[in-house]
This record gives sequence, structure tokens and C-alpha cells, in this order.
Amino acid sequence: MELPMEFLEQMKNMLGEAYPDYLESFSHPAHSALRVNTGKISVEEFRQKTGWNLRPVPWVSNGFYYEDAANPAKHPHYYAGLYYLQEPSAMTPASRLPVKEGDRILDLCAAPGGKATELAARLKGTGMLVANDISSSRARALLKNLEMQGVENMFVTTEEPGRLAQIYPEFFDGILLDAPCSGEGMFRKEKTMISYWKEHGPSWYAPVQKTLIRQAWQMLRPGGYLLYSTCTFSLTENEEVIDEFLEEFPDMELCPVAPYEGFAPGITVGKRDLSDCVHIFPHRMEGEGHFLALLRKSGDGKQREMLSGAGRNPEIKENRKKSGKQEKQNLQAAQQKRNRGRKESDAGKDPLESAREFLSHTRRDWNAGKFFCRQDQVYYLSSGMEPAEGIRYLRTGLWIGTVKKGRFEPSQALAMALTPETFDVVLDLPAEDERILRYLKGETIGIGEGELDGKNGWVLVCTDGFPLGFGKIAGAMIKNKYYAGWRMV
Ligand code: SAM
Repeated sequence: MELPMEFLEQMKNMLGEAYPDYLESFSHPAHSALRVNTGKISVEEFRQKTGWNLRPVPWVSNGFYYEDAANPAKHPHYYAGLYYLQEPSAMTPASRLPVKEGDRILDLCAAPGGKATELAARLKGTGMLVANDISSSRARALLKNLEMQGVENMFVTTEEPGRLAQIYPEFFDGILLDAPCSGEGMFRKEKTMISYWKEHGPSWYAPVQKTLIRQAWQMLRPGGYLLYSTCTFSLTENEEVIDEFLEEFPDMELCPVAPYEGFAPGITVGKRDLSDCVHIFPHRMEGEGHFLALLRKSGDGKQREMLSGAGRNPEIKENRKKSGKQEKQNLQAAQQKRNRGRKESDAGKDPLESAREFLSHTRRDWNAGKFFCRQDQVYYLSSGMEPAEGIRYLRTGLWIGTVKKGRFEPSQALAMALTPETFDVVLDLPAEDERILRYLKGETIGIGEGELDGKNGWVLVCTDGFPLGFGKIAGAMIKNKYYAGWRMV
């Protein structure tokens, strides 16, 4: 592998005696791992269910190395959202940001969702997660990953962070800033990162990172935690960013990260002790490489938590009012449009009414939150979640479904947020049943003897107790309603 001289010089200076060990690490393969989605299944249950030979990632309680023969990307349990495939050192940042149930958490550079999915699991369906990425194509992958893992208490945004900071001043209890970086920790795994590095190295990324961390500070409530991470080694993108940030913001303090023997301490670049920062190096641990710094904003967070930043800001309050008005107008316009295209008997049927009819087949308390419609789409927002005006949302809460020609079609996201216990009609098949792979490929599947006797209408297709998607019973067959964009190829 041709590593740039400038990069090798940087590593030599940084690592001293350990430099040959670092170089030697390139003669070993990169590590493959998965992280159990504890929002759906406990680690113990997952280990019992899977026959794979899994070896724990020692510093992440729900991380496991797998053998390539297992091919977990093609297994039905992956499609059921039971785990996420992630490089082991990339599991570290989300595992080290303090998250409590009910928190408001922001993942500022979240796509494709490796860390956001873990943050969501740790919220356990409470509070809210704002998962943002400036790139709308990458944010679509983020949305898919969050929905596949059954996350519903979320806003997925594709926004410039400065804009978010205007809407959410001092709003979040916890922020993960997994900053765009030169990706030196990816060189062994993705060779293309080397040519990207040659185009945009540490000095190109550092100003971007410094802007992002300031914007994150604006959105962090007093007493809240900010975790800054990168998948690069360079001091320019790591310690120097943190050092300058701490100099500029004396209300921020560097905190220790829950330890692991393989972590290497941060390196002092100025006068400040930065040993509480963590470097993950591939010659010290079975991971590719990361950097993290956990920071806390001083002050009494409790008082502020009662008055959210967005609620205090009169300009935003005003925008919110307008947003409500606009929403109502949109709804009325959509309703009129629909009514024009409908038969007499259909006219006047509210999309919410159709959705409620469908939801009467579910067993969960929908009164804890609220529904809203945008054109023909119906969404559900958990309690306390409020969209803001002027933000580019890809998703606001749980997408419930669509009203098409007066008929309600439940969404793929709704299927993933349900369980076999919370839907009336369920076909639960073991992962080994050949119908499961056929269902995931978009094919019609047969109903076996004794299955779904006397049932009709919508069915929730599950594997080993976890939903995959919907189908519709048609005689002895199930019409496939698995979301076409997620099909197994
Ligand atoms: N946290 C992600 C995960 O674990 O899957 C990986 C994030 S990746 C290191 C950095 C991301 O930052 C990219 O998806 C990129 O599109 C996004 N990005 C770059 N500049 C940004 C900006 N100014 N604001 C928000 N996101 C940005």
C-alpha cells in the first residue's frame, strides 16, 4: 500500500517508538464487526438466537467480531434491524456519550447512521433524536438505517448546522459531533481514502471541524455533554481542534472517557493537558482508528431543561405559530385536492381517519403522542416532539403511512416500529424458512396449512419474533408489501 510520505512523517513524529508497530498493522486484515440493536433485542437474547461464532469487542458491551463466513449483511435478522454492521472503533463514540432516557440528543454529522442508531437504542424510544447530515443523499441512507432499526422518536434533517443552531440554542442534553475528517483511520479498510487524503488532508478539514464544534456548542444546554470524534489520527484535526475550542470556550471542560486498556491518551499540543482525549490505534487494539474527546458544558442544566431554547426564543415561537398555520393550510389544500379526485362516496374522508382505522388493528397507546398529515402522508410524533419552521426534514417522527385513492397503505417504517404482540394478524416464520428470503426479495409467498386461518387483510410478516414488513392476504397467498427500495438483491 502506497501511503503518502507526508502522512508517514506525521505518524512517525506522533508515535515515536511505536511507529514500526503501526506500520506492521497494515499486514493484518481490517476487522469486521456488528453491534446489537439493544432497542430491539438484548445482547443475551441475540447471542442465543444466532448460531454465529461471535467474539466480544472488549470495550463496547454490545459489539461483536464475526467471521466473514457468517455473511450477516444477507441474513434476515439484519433486515429485522437486530444489528448494525460497524467497524469496531467506530462503535466507541456513541458508547461513550452519556445518554439517559428522555434526553434530547443531536447527532450533527450522522450519515449513514452508525452512531445515530446506537444513540437511538440508548434512548429506548424516549426523548428525541435529531439526526442531521448536510448531504441529502447520505441522509437518505441514514433514514433507512434508523427506520430499519425501528426508531420512531426522531427527526432526520439535512441542514446546515448554523441553521440548526438558530432553531435549537442550548437545547440538547447530548451532542455527538462525528466530524468529517481526512479518514486516516480508514486507510487499511478503504484504500480510496488514501487518494482522498491527498486531495484534502488535515489542514483542509481542520477549519470545517472548528466551525462545527462551535456550532455544536451553541446547541448544547448547560450541563450537557458533547462528544467530538473523528476517524483520523492527525493532531491538527483532533487535539488542536479541542485545544483551541477549550481556549475559546472556558465554560467547557474535558472529561474522562470510560476507560479501556487499549486506548491511548490524547497528546498535549499546547499548555493544556489533553490526556483525557482518546486515540484508538490499530496496533494497540482490534479496531481501525478513531479519536474522541468528551466535553461538558458547565452550569446547572436542570433549570434550563424545563425551558427549552426553542421555546424561549420569541422569533422561533412566532415561526412555530406560522408553521402550525401553514400546516393547517397545507392540510386543507391537500384535502381539497384529494376530494376533487375522489368518488362521491370517498369524498371528505380524512387521511387521519383512514390511518386510525388501520391503527385500530394495533395494540399500543397512540394517545401518548400526536398525529399529523402532510399531503397524503400521515406521521406520528411522540410526546414532546415538535417540528420547527424552516428546517429541511427528511422525516418527522414515525411515518405511519400514505392515503392512496382513499385507501390507507401502512409504511415500512410502521412495520419496523411494531412487534408481533402489537399487531392483530401476524405470520412469524423462522429465518430458515425459504419464504423469508423470498419475501425480502419482493416475491409473493404462500400461506401454509394452519397458518392465518380465517384471517384476511393486512398481515405483519415477522421472522423469529421480529417484524420485516407488511403483506396482504389474498386467498392462500400473501401479496408482498415489503418496501421496494429495501429489497434484498
Ligand atoms: N457519524 C456517521 C456514522 O457513524 O455513520 C459518520 C459521519 S462521517 C464521519 C461525516 C459526515 O459529515 C458525512 O456524512 C458528511 O456528509 C457530513 N458533513 C460534512 N460536512 C458537514 C456539515 N458542515 N454539516 C453537517 N454534516 C456534514
